Formats: sequence, C-alpha cells, structure tokens
Amino acid sequence: MNIHEYQAKEVLKSYGVAIQEGIVADTPEAALEAAKKLNAETGTSWYVIKAQIHAGGRGKGKIQSTGSNGVVLARGLDEVMEKAKNILGGTLVTHQTGPEGKKVNKILIAQDVYYPGASEPKEYYLSILLDRAKGCNVIMASTEGGMDIEEVAENHPEKIIKEWIDPKVGLQGFQARKLAFKLGLEGTAFKGMVKFITSLYEAYIATDSSQFEINPVLKTSDDKILAVDAKVNLDDNALFKHKHLAILRDFEEEDPLEVEADKYGLNYVKLDGNVGCMVNGAGLAMATMDMIKLSGGEPANFLDVGGGANATTVEAGFRIILQDPNVKAILINVFGGIVRCDRIANGVVEAYKTIGDIKVPIIVRLQGTNAEEGAKIIDESGLKVSSAITLKEAAEKVKAAILVPSEK
Ligand code: GDP
Ligand code: MN
Repeated sequence: MNIHEYQAKEVLKSYGVAIQEGIVADTPEAALEAAKKLNAETGTSWYVIKAQIHAGGRGKGKIQSTGSNGVVLARGLDEVMEKAKNILGGTLVTHQTGPEGKKVNKILIAQDVYYPGASEPKEYYLSILLDRAKGCNVIMASTEGGMDIEEVAENHPEKIIKEWIDPKVGLQGFQARKLAFKLGLEGTAFKGMVKFITSLYEAYIATDSSQFEINPVLKTSDDKILAVDAKVNLDDNALFKHKHLAILRDFEEEDPLEVEADKYGLNYVKLDGNVGCMVNGAGLAMATMDMIKLSGGEPANFLDVGGGANATTVEAGFRIILQDPNVKAILINVFGGIVRCDRIANGVVEAYKTIGDIKVPIIVRLQGTNAEEGAKIIDESGLKVSSAITLKEAAEKVKAAILVPSEK
C-alpha cells in the first residue's frame, strides 16, 4: 500500500527521522493558515507547495489547466494562496501518472529548506528495499540525489552504493558509517547521515514496509540532514498488525474497480484492452491473457477469482468487468479442480440472470472435473453465452466475438 508524502513524513518523524517540516491543506485558505503556522514554528518565510498524489516526478510534472508544476516555491506569505490555487483541484501529469494524470486533492505546505548559508545545499538519494536474490534488505545510497535514479543506475551504476543487511543482526553501526563515508560526508553532516540512516532503517523494520525511497535527502547549507521527499510502501500482508497505518489508505488514489474487487477478495488489475477475462489461478490468468493477445484482442483486465470460485465471486467478477466500457467480450477460463465445472457453469448462468441486460458476448471455457456437464449447462441456458472446451476453440470464439459488433 502506498501512502502520501505528508503521511510518510509523519510516520518517519515518529521514528526520529529528520524531515522537512510541513502541514497538509485542502483549500487555498488552509494553505495560507498552514504557512503562517509554519512561520511561527520554524521561522521560515519561504514555502514549498507540494501536490500530494501517489506518484513521483511532481517537481517536473505539470497541472493540465494552469501549467503550474506540482512542486513550487512561494517566496513569502503573499504568494501562498495564488500558487496553491494553481495546483489544488487540478490534474497533475508526471512521467509516472500516465497521460491521464492524477487529481490533486491535497497539498503539503512545507518549509523551504534550500536556504543559503555556509555551503550549498546538496541532494542525496537513499532507499531501502528487499533484495530478493540475496534474501535480505538492502540500503541503496547515491550522491546523485534529486535525479531519476533509474537513469543513474543505467548510466553510472558505480554511483549507487549498496549495503546489505544481515537479518539476524540487523543494521550495524559500521554499515551506517560506511554509507555516510562513501557519500563523502564529514563532521556534523556525517553524524547527521548516520543518525538518519539508522532511524530510517528502524522505521522500515517497525512498519513492515516493502520499500522506502527518500529522494532527495538534503544536506542543508548548515549541514543538517533531512528528508525532503518520502515514498513509503507498506506491505499489505502486514497491515493487520498496524491499524494506525492501515487507515492512511487513500481510496481516491486507487482504481475504483480495484477497490471493489478487493472487497470480494478478487485479485483484479485493470488494463487497457477490450476482452475482459475471469480466471481461477494467477498462472492460468497469465496464460489466458497471452491467448487473448494471440487471438487479436487485448486483455481488459487481470482477474483471478482464486481456488474457491462460486456463484457470488463469479457474479462480483462479472459486475466489475462489465463496468469497464472498453470491454467487447468476456472470456471465462476456469479449471475445475477443487471446484467442479458444472458448479461454475451454474454460477455463471445464475450471475448472468441476476445482472441481466448483458450486451457483450461471453465465452466460457471449462476444463477439468465435469467439464462436459458444465459445457452442456452453458449451451442449454438460452443466454448469449457460448462454451469452449479447448483453449484453441475459446481463442477462435473470442476472435469472432470481437470482430462482430457487440449490439447484434
Ligand atoms: P518529486 O518531483 O515528486 O520527486 O518531488 P520532490 O519532493 O522530490 O520535490 C521535487 C524537487 O523540488 C526537489 O528535488 C527539489 O529540487 C525541489 N524542492 C523540494 N523542496 C524544496 C525546498 O524546500 N526548496 C526548494 N528551493 N526546492 C525544493
Ligand atoms: Mn522526489
């Protein structure tokens, strides 16, 4: 589960990680109030206004209607409301949102931490994630902060420093010092970075996160080390242990169909194609999507109904697929192992009747226990559903279905 930058910073702060202070707002008036409060608390008189969406690249991204960037500087209280207006309610398009962009419902008003001083502020990169190949967490750091890290990894892999953490003993002091040293830091900044890495790793473990990315980590002109940005990804499977984190979920950032599917325990991912599919088992779902492509269609979704498919889950799956206006045909591909094919067939027929008014053709391929009986139930139902036994047959029927106008 992803959370917003303002939430991530609060979580990190509670573990002693130094952050760029800020206050979240959802109206221009609240933004001004937030700026005044920040001024009183931190003494700052310049502010950064940051769009809160679950995607990166906001600094370079643009609000469609106003042309404002997703991260802007306000030089004084007078500029806050106007600049907030240009971001709030707009649609922000960044290289991570896709061309449709994401609506900005909230902004973070933060203190400007790039103030002039004894030295230039410098941006670093830090992330923590699981290295699956090595079976342990890895901390990655780079002096090339603020940049697109994929580009750094591609062109200058030597500029990414890695430190693997032995799960038996956790992060050791020497490892945090080694990272800070390799980043070229000394004195106060060195100590600050060691503390930063140590508390960041503690937060990562305590929250059962699956990824942290802090880009940039800033060394201020007076040698403080703090998080300017924060991407926190929490492990969904551990959320039951962390109620205070689970409530940070922002449904507005998620696809509404995916949210609904989640309620029924369906594994659904929306895609851009025209053939909806409902399958039991992730492997079979992948194979089915390949098959749809081979027959000239494009999958409209990934939907795994799991091993215990029944009339209720089939109906829920149907409803979700049908809400996608791009869907021209639906392919149901179920292997009857634990669940018998005749049961699935009855489930499909029942769901079809309950929903009613289904305009798109449906192809049902049932294989496994009682496959023949299942096919018979489908074919004799009198509904616009056709059965297939082999994959090839199903592919041909899908092909025919998407060639013919669905209204016929
Ligand atoms: P992202 O573009 O979504 O990754 O958002 P970030 O939070 O990383 O902000 C983007 C960029 O805005 C940073 O790399 C900084 O260059 C700039 N920025 C962020 N905070 C401040 C600030 O306090 N002052 C100034 N001058 N620039 C800032
Ligand atoms: Mn960033």
